Amino acid sequence: MEPRASFSVLYKACFLVVAACALHISLMLLFYLRNPSTENEPALPRHSNSTSRSINTSTSLSTSTSTTVKIQATEASSTKALERCPETPPHLVGPLRVEFSDPVNLDEMRQDPLLSEGGRYTPRDCVSLQKVALIIPYRHREDHLKYWLFYLHPILQRQQLDYGVYVIQQDGEDTFNRAKLLNVGYAESLKEYDYNCFVFSDVDLIPMDDRNIYRCFDQPRHLAVAMDKFGFGLPYVQYFGGVSAMSKEQYLKINGFPNNYWGWGGEDDDIYNRLTFRGMSISRTDGVTGRCKMIRHDRDKMNEPNPQRFHRIAHTRETMDSDGINSLTYKVLKIEKDKLFTKIIVDIGKP
Ligand code: BGC
Repeated sequence: MEPRASFSVLYKACFLVVAACALHISLMLLFYLRNPSTENEPALPRHSNSTSRSINTSTSLSTSTSTTVKIQATEASSTKALERCPETPPHLVGPLRVEFSDPVNLDEMRQDPLLSEGGRYTPRDCVSLQKVALIIPYRHREDHLKYWLFYLHPILQRQQLDYGVYVIQQDGEDTFNRAKLLNVGYAESLKEYDYNCFVFSDVDLIPMDDRNIYRCFDQPRHLAVAMDKFGFGLPYVQYFGGVSAMSKEQYLKINGFPNNYWGWGGEDDDIYNRLTFRGMSISRTDGVTGRCKMIRHDRDKMNEPNPQRFHRIAHTRETMDSDGINSLTYKVLKIEKDKLFTKIIVDIGKP
């Protein structure tokens, strides 16, 4: 071949290589611009209706996932006003694995920048539908409280609640009074924030499905629908114990809870009577979504079954207007702020 002809072939080959490279780069650029961040993005937990699937609720997954969502939202919020959170929170995962065999460590959770002192949380990506105070009547149950905090904080965050956790500790060793402590929790939490929904939870009850939303509904809500200790059912249809939720309006309509049930039992039946006497009924989720687990324990000292409970329950109609939030007296001895909860130590007197 002549030198001139071979130069022409070489020139054409080079031109083709350069053209192919340019085409490749353009295609890559186009693809990248259309899908800027498909890599390195954590997969969100998928909503599940399956009851057989078990998902570990340990904070790492849920917290890191929600952190991503919230950081994006915070950036977005600087340019536009936040919208109301959706009726069905998008990051619920469904059934949860709840175990009490190993002790839990709350150190990591205490570092959560999305939680503020006193166990307060507000969604960053939308305006929560309700402001919920979680109220736990308490004495001598440190281990149970740890499990409660470990499991509930991530759940409540996925449920997009604007919430605060209040542990109401009865001071001294006199007979325990659950309902009076709940009344104190209602009154004290309202001094801190304009809550409009109150969830009253025993410290040893953990929901097994985050679709059982800890918020208020049109009717007083029973949340401990299917406890393992009752064979994942209700002990009786009127049962309103364990965990329940009431809006401020519903709570005031029944004059709050009775203050004179000292010892175990009956106060939840009295509350049930109150709400029916005021024309309300219980709202509940289904028996699968409403499953929950109780931490096994020995009976507490100074919380023996109250022998007066049957008599008291029989007279709710006559007593409810004079015994309740309108007759509540107590003395706050101390308020302690932990990152994960507010503890209020209170003198509520004795029987
Ligand atoms: C008591 C309730 C208790 C229920 C389930 C009833 O007899 O009065 O207070 O929640 O049993 O244990």
